Amino acid sequence: MGCTAQDVVAAVHAGAEIVAAYRDELVEMDRVIGDADHGENMDRGFRAVAAKLDTSAPETPGSALKLVASTLISTVGGASGPLYGTAFLRAASAAGEGDELDGPAVAAILKAGLDGVVARGKAEVGDKTMIDALSPAADAAKAAADDGASAGQVLAAAAEAARNGAESTEPLVARKGRASYLGERSAGHVDPGARSTALLLSAFAERSVR
Ligand code: ADP
Ligand code: MG
Repeated sequence: MGCTAQDVVAAVHAGAEIVAAYRDELVEMDRVIGDADHGENMDRGFRAVAAKLDTSAPETPGSALKLVASTLISTVGGASGPLYGTAFLRAASAAGEGDELDGPAVAAILKAGLDGVVARGKAEVGDKTMIDALSPAADAAKAAADDGASAGQVLAAAAEAARNGAESTEPLVARKGRASYLGERSAGHVDPGARSTALLLSAFAERSVR
């Protein structure tokens, strides 16, 4: 079973709920190695996204993703706004005009999102950023899709890889973003952006396909 525009809208609403639920935790994580605003930034952005989706009823997955992108870019400040905005914009392009996303399409969308974040932020795996969650997620999604997994199964594989990827940031010394100003002192803490990526993917996986 594929993922329709309605499924994408439901998934993004689930993303907004999880970001709201973890807002304070993301703030605390960012307080330790950043400037204590990641939870606030994400919550503000996804609240706006949820409101926008409620009033616009997008007809295709691609147009839903595009609406997410433009809303995030205009409402989220900081490093993460343009990065997540670019990810959703590239994802929207990869989704094209079709009515439904199958497993390979979901994997291609995640890869496009990853490529967008890399192009914008120039970070690599191991730099202690959201890339450390998104890159293994895109790889796991591709592997699952190649095995014939459905859209929902592809997202579940991506979510699990992202969770492990986020945890893998704990011992790392940050080489990109605000946390890199701390040098060695950034080690010993999970990166908040990697955590928010993992949270979003777990919410998408749970709600993307009814
Ligand atoms: P800011 O750092 O401007 O306060 P946020 O706190 O909202 O913005 O987001 C911080 C997160 O952004 C980091 O935890 C990291 O995952 C991500 N990030 C920062 N710089 C980059 C980059 N160059 N590439 C990828 N992700 C990045
Ligand atoms: Mg911050």
